[in-house]
Amino acid sequence: MDPNVLSKSPINGLANGHSPPAASERLQIINDEKKFTPDLGAQIERWGLRDAGFGYNIVAVFGSQSTGKSTLLNRLFGTTFDVMDETRRQQTTKGIWMCRGIDMNVMVMDVEGTDGRERGEDQDFERKSALFSLASSEVLIINLWEHQVGLYQGANMGLLKTVFEVNLGLFGKNATSGRTLLLFVIRDHIGQTPLANLQATLTADLIRIWESLSKPTELQDRQLADYFDLAFTALPHKVLVPDKFEAEVRNLRTRFVDKDAPDFLFKPAYHKRIPADGVAFYMEGIWEQVQTNKDLDLPTQQELLAQFRCDEISTVALAEFTEQAKSQRRPVEAGRVVEGLGAMMRNWRSDALTRYDRDASRYHAGVYQRKRVDLIAALDGALSPLFLGQLKNLHKSCLVAFKTEMLDGLRGEGYNFAEVVSAARTRWLERFETGAKEALVEGADWAWEDEMAALAEEVGAVADQCRRDETKKMVNHIERNFKKQISEPVDLALNKAAPGMWDDILRAFRQTLSKAEAAYLAKATSFNCTDEENTASLAALRRRAWMALRAKIDEQTADPVILGKLRGHFEERFRYDEMGVPRVWKPEDDIDSAFKKAKDETLDLIPLYSRIQPQDTALAYTLPDDALAALPGETDEFDFAATLVLFSETKSLELAQKFRREADAHYVEAKRSTVASIAQ
Ligand code: GDP
Ligand code: MG
Repeated sequence: MDPNVLSKSPINGLANGHSPPAASERLQIINDEKKFTPDLGAQIERWGLRDAGFGYNIVAVFGSQSTGKSTLLNRLFGTTFDVMDETRRQQTTKGIWMCRGIDMNVMVMDVEGTDGRERGEDQDFERKSALFSLASSEVLIINLWEHQVGLYQGANMGLLKTVFEVNLGLFGKNATSGRTLLLFVIRDHIGQTPLANLQATLTADLIRIWESLSKPTELQDRQLADYFDLAFTALPHKVLVPDKFEAEVRNLRTRFVDKDAPDFLFKPAYHKRIPADGVAFYMEGIWEQVQTNKDLDLPTQQELLAQFRCDEISTVALAEFTEQAKSQRRPVEAGRVVEGLGAMMRNWRSDALTRYDRDASRYHAGVYQRKRVDLIAALDGALSPLFLGQLKNLHKSCLVAFKTEMLDGLRGEGYNFAEVVSAARTRWLERFETGAKEALVEGADWAWEDEMAALAEEVGAVADQCRRDETKKMVNHIERNFKKQISEPVDLALNKAAPGMWDDILRAFRQTLSKAEAAYLAKATSFNCTDEENTASLAALRRRAWMALRAKIDEQTADPVILGKLRGHFEERFRYDEMGVPRVWKPEDDIDSAFKKAKDETLDLIPLYSRIQPQDTALAYTLPDDALAALPGETDEFDFAATLVLFSETKSLELAQKFRREADAHYVEAKRSTVASIAQ
């Protein structure tokens, strides 16, 4: 069967207590060339143990060749280690095999070829595999025949001496972290010597070995019991009493399986605290150290493992996170305000941290924390552009919404400008603030206040511009009203052509202007205009009022109009009598005197019309200085004095000339009419 297919099938061995299909696969983790397999990580995954955390156990077996080690392991754990075929002697192999226990989260190591000394070989592999096994296993099964018990000089004793020595090197200073159970399994126990006696003999031997060790001075006082727990069990002869053998093996199996049994063997204290997903990397590192004969420093190994695994776990968490964050990148970049972005970002972030914490927190605390800080920095770094984009988009949309709401509020009549602006401003700045705060992620060092200050400034600028436009509109409106109101009094006064004509006009001007000013000020309070703006608006209003007055006067003093007025004035005096009756000239009438009088009186009007000049000097109007300043596009100050003059000297003469000509025509006509009456 294709192992890859198997590994892809859902593996639920942990959850329901059943082993995954690949559970019975075995792997040679160290081959006879002392090479460590590159496949252990994948195999642990296929065994379904990768996510077991600390919820797994490791057991290893040591002992002379052909003492039934593999047979025992297969019976105890359901493993598939090779068993020597009785019929054909196999060559001794070296190496370590690993299997998963069936229906239990156990990694079982079958250590082959540790009996080099028996065969006169060097003890290199024995030492290395002891180191390797002690650094990872909780329980070390020491398998021996009953008849080997008490043979102090025997192979097993040499092996145990090695185990003790390397254990001191590994856990010497820190006995609590490296406790291991040595389980002695005495095979082919005939029963003549009770287990208790065998146990006493073995214990005495072990203590003797312990005492014979040359320990470093600081560890002189350490006892065997400081590092090891000892357990003993005996199994009947497999061939002679197979039923009993099987029964005892079943009993022993219970002690590995039943956590509640009083003699449960996998006590938590023996666990080497390597998370399952780090076992492969850890073991490989250990073996490498062992192989190169470097001092095996477990804390360093654990830290290296932690760095490697925390990085890996962090990378996975970050990759999933990046995938999630990608979903909102486009809308944000497209300028959309993403509803609930903050909640999403917080979720992705906390999901990533939860994933990281779940797996990485099992590793070396310092490394785990350090890498966590790095991960947070990476997460926040990735979220930051989304946050900034969201702020930018909020800024834009709030500004647009503010403008729309303000302009809507200014439609129609009767609005209070300041109130409309302030309501819109408050609403959209608050909307920004709410949106910005929503997009925050706890712990990230992000600020939105500057962006809001910028928004407030732009809102202010838009409102200011609008206020200026509105003020202009208002001033135009007032100007139009002014023109309407000033028109009639000017017409009346100029038609009358009385000496107090300008007094009447200026009086009317002053009244109308002060009404216009009042109208402006009444409206301006709701615009929140500044004093300078008010001063400027009033100055403009006054000047425009004056110009309007002058325009009205110009209209009434244009050549044909003024000539008409003069003509009317003259005719009233020359062609009509005091009673307003048309005159019929008789030869005895003094036409010349009447003509001269009417003409002179009319000519006297020209100087009156030529200049805006009231009789009462108090009525004379002068534009205030601020209304005289040059307007944009003008180079010179407003020449107010010039606006008082309607007709220059020359113009006056020209008008007089034109008028005289008309008057003369009337004179001739009058003369002719008397001649005609005589002729009749
Ligand atoms: P290993 O080399 O220690 O792994 O030993 P094996 O498990 O390969 O077994 C070696 C031989 O011993 C095989 O032929 C087994 O059938 C036999 N054997 C296994 N267990 C026992 C036992 O408890 N007693 C006896 N007498 N023989 C056994
Ligand atoms: Mg074997």
